[in-house]
Amino acid sequence: MVGVEHMMVKQIKKYAKDNNIPIMQDAGIDFLTTFLIKNKIRSVLEIGTAIGYSAIMMALTNPYIKITSVERDEKRYLVALKNIKELHLDDRITLVFKDALDLRLEDKFDLIFLDAAKAQNINFFHSFSGNLNSNGFIITDNLEFHGLVEKDEGEIKSRNVRALVRKIKEYIRFLEQNVEYETTFYKIGDGLSVSQSKK
Ligand code: SAH
Ligand code: MG
Repeated sequence: MVGVEHMMVKQIKKYAKDNNIPIMQDAGIDFLTTFLIKNKIRSVLEIGTAIGYSAIMMALTNPYIKITSVERDEKRYLVALKNIKELHLDDRITLVFKDALDLRLEDKFDLIFLDAAKAQNINFFHSFSGNLNSNGFIITDNLEFHGLVEKDEGEIKSRNVRALVRKIKEYIRFLEQNVEYETTFYKIGDGLSVSQSKK
């Protein structure tokens, strides 16, 4: 990252903080960008753009990486568009303003990054696993959900949060039992998994 990029990324992080936008934590972003470099990833499909922070960080790892990112919230999508344009990354990051549950794509990607509605991960996995190149990866964020996934259900007061945590646990089981993928879980950031397709 050059100086001006560094400054703009800092501003994006500040905007996220001020507006309660749940962008990836530093440890998670470090893991993700290092993973991209190590595995020579050239194309990424991201579900959940927010304001473009993770897409931008991924794009800045290498001048050849192309990213397609999907966001359903119009305000966030517009902020992401502006951020990506200002960093001159609009030739490599394509934003799609749509609910990912209604989206079907033709393209193939080396990596799919799931970071949208946490209760929908199984659906996203099924919707987009056909868009993976052979031996490609699916990375999922927020599997610990602020430590709540490890807690006893009785300790979680909100019924909605309890339901969400149950869904995340269900997704973790789904990954563990999915013999078509080799999944590793990482206690990094808010909890990540890397699932590599065996095909
Ligand atoms: N990846 C971003 C953070 C994403 S936050 C970063 O680290 O910088 C999760 C985003 O997913 C939110 O902005 C939310 O609006 C979006 N989202 C949730 N469900 C979605 C869906 N079904 N389709 C598209 N976007 C969705
Ligand atoms: Mg996340």
